[in-house]
Amino acid sequence: MKTALKGLVLRETKYKEADKILTVLTSDRGCLSLRARGVLRKNSKLAPGCQLFTYSEFTVYTASGIDMVAEADPVEMFLGLRSDIKKLALAAYIADVLCQLADEDSANGNMLRLALNSFYALSALSYPLELVRGAFELRAMAEAGFAPDLSACSVCLSEPAEALLHLRSGVLTCRACRVRTPELAQGVALPCPPAVLALVRHFETAPLNRLLSVPYTEAVLPELTQVTESYLAAQMEKSFPTLDYYKKL
Ligand SMILES: [Zn+2]
Repeated sequence: MKTALKGLVLRETKYKEADKILTVLTSDRGCLSLRARGVLRKNSKLAPGCQLFTYSEFTVYTASGIDMVAEADPVEMFLGLRSDIKKLALAAYIADVLCQLADEDSANGNMLRLALNSFYALSALSYPLELVRGAFELRAMAEAGFAPDLSACSVCLSEPAEALLHLRSGVLTCRACRVRTPELAQGVALPCPPAVLALVRHFETAPLNRLLSVPYTEAVLPELTQVTESYLAAQMEKSFPTLDYYKKL
């Protein structure tokens, strides 16, 4: 039996002579592994739809328990990504994070929408890459169930003064409240100045199609991504070589 599904190719691995194993992010089945047989042969009709970072409509059948690609029609190829090495490197980091987060058990249509919107912003819009990255990092955590509590200082319950974001516990405190609270004084906490706090609050809750529609200044972006990347790494207990590569470019 053949089934149709739409998905974004996040990863590709060469297999045997001319096949590829694709990791595809779908809206209702999380990340799937699909085998595209013969896709590396000249004139394979599967090739365009099975390219890395392409959103495609797949027709899939199962053979010996393996999901095989019968047809693959590209819906969006994000061509603007492919001519810019820095954008491509950021897309690779985004794909890396998504592969770690979106297994089959944690299917979440919003994760696919976040991925598509982020790739579209990189490909076709003129936002600074660091704004796209910060928005992705924070929202990916929220969609995966690791949303920080940004509503108020977790100790005095007021708007925090000299706010700190505690990376492991995901709470905010005032600088003074942290010192007074032994269990929070231990872990790593990063300063979250008002301009950064406004951005991360927006990224956490804004409708996905308005994620990047937010006032910002270029000057705040280094502090923003310091907070979002550290929060993601602490919550996932992982560092990403693809991020190190992107930052070196
Ligand atoms: Zn406080």
